[in-house]
Amino acid sequence: MSASIKQKAITILGSTGSIGTQTLDIVKDHPDKFRVVGLAAGRNIKLLAEQIRAFKPEIVATSYEDKLPELQNAIANLTNPPKILVGGEGVAEVARYGDSESVVTGIVGCAGLLPTIAAIEAGKDIALANKETLIAGAPVVLPLVEKHGVKLLPADSEHSAIFQCLQGVPEAGLRRIMLTASGGSFRDLPVEKLATVTVQDALKHPNWTMGQKITIDSATLMNKGLEVIEAHYLFGLDYDHIDIVIHPQSIIHSLIEVQDTSVLAQLGWADMRLPLLYALSYPDRIYTDWEPLDLVKISNLTFREPDHNKYPCMKLAYAAGRAGGLMPAVLNAANEQAVALFLAEKIEFLDIPRLIETVCDRFTTQNTPYPSLENILEADTWARRMVLESH
Ligand code: MG
Repeated sequence: MSASIKQKAITILGSTGSIGTQTLDIVKDHPDKFRVVGLAAGRNIKLLAEQIRAFKPEIVATSYEDKLPELQNAIANLTNPPKILVGGEGVAEVARYGDSESVVTGIVGCAGLLPTIAAIEAGKDIALANKETLIAGAPVVLPLVEKHGVKLLPADSEHSAIFQCLQGVPEAGLRRIMLTASGGSFRDLPVEKLATVTVQDALKHPNWTMGQKITIDSATLMNKGLEVIEAHYLFGLDYDHIDIVIHPQSIIHSLIEVQDTSVLAQLGWADMRLPLLYALSYPDRIYTDWEPLDLVKISNLTFREPDHNKYPCMKLAYAAGRAGGLMPAVLNAANEQAVALFLAEKIEFLDIPRLIETVCDRFTTQNTPYPSLENILEADTWARRMVLESH
């Protein structure tokens, strides 16, 4: 087996969010393995200042320029303060800074795309926790990954599971991907009740603790649809060979079928730290004191067919994925905007898929197979505006 890895320098984008704080938990537990070079966050300056004290990064950014005085104040008495930057360019500078080997991309939404590209161009490996990097950005990001010879290591539980199963499978050995889905907050609710669910209902995820946007995406199953597109770009299978199966216990994090029909699965408790750790330690395995999996305690693993009538977002995602080009970016932006409206209680739960479908339909004639980054960002802006105009 390989020797234990030397201390690895890492940077975290979105350090105060769910992905960021769980990554920092890992760093705290393994100070001999990981060192924090850079942190970037948004408005939660209080937590960012605590993180600066605890992890002593060399460089820090907040994406909000108006937060600069508050941040400077919060760390005024530090003897060795980090370099502080602001705005989107500040976050990108943190992403490309210094001797950091791996950048964890925990920024939610299309805002994560530009700093991720900055990190790739600076030769950093990416611990990929930002879905938009591939869903919207794949036509531009994948060639850059190739050009700069960096690794795109999935930190999402499903893609990490597939990636782990693929270790030792030869090129062209993969035949089918089975993505597992918990079913989200409404998995046991009859379809006719979905029309009247509230934001509070939707935010109660049965298995995972995650940010608000992704919890809503789990409730609509758009999260799984987006993961199908991501799996297509990460592992190169066509959409006919990527399936979704509902697995309420969230113990099997996904499976692969290889050419001889053998099926490989990765299992674990529903704990985001595990895929995050593997994205940072790959190809090594680091010992942890986390609770080992206990099959007898779980006792039942069950599976069912996803209900496409109850959850139209899955079909919308497959269709956008098959259309390719800019359509996944449009789907993603329309979804992000619709979810924001739902969280603000401006639209109903079932308006989310309705708005996304309207916007994707309207975009069909404008799609292009080989978009530039500028095209992607324009499509993103256009789709958001369309949702705001259509609701
Ligand atoms: Mg996931």
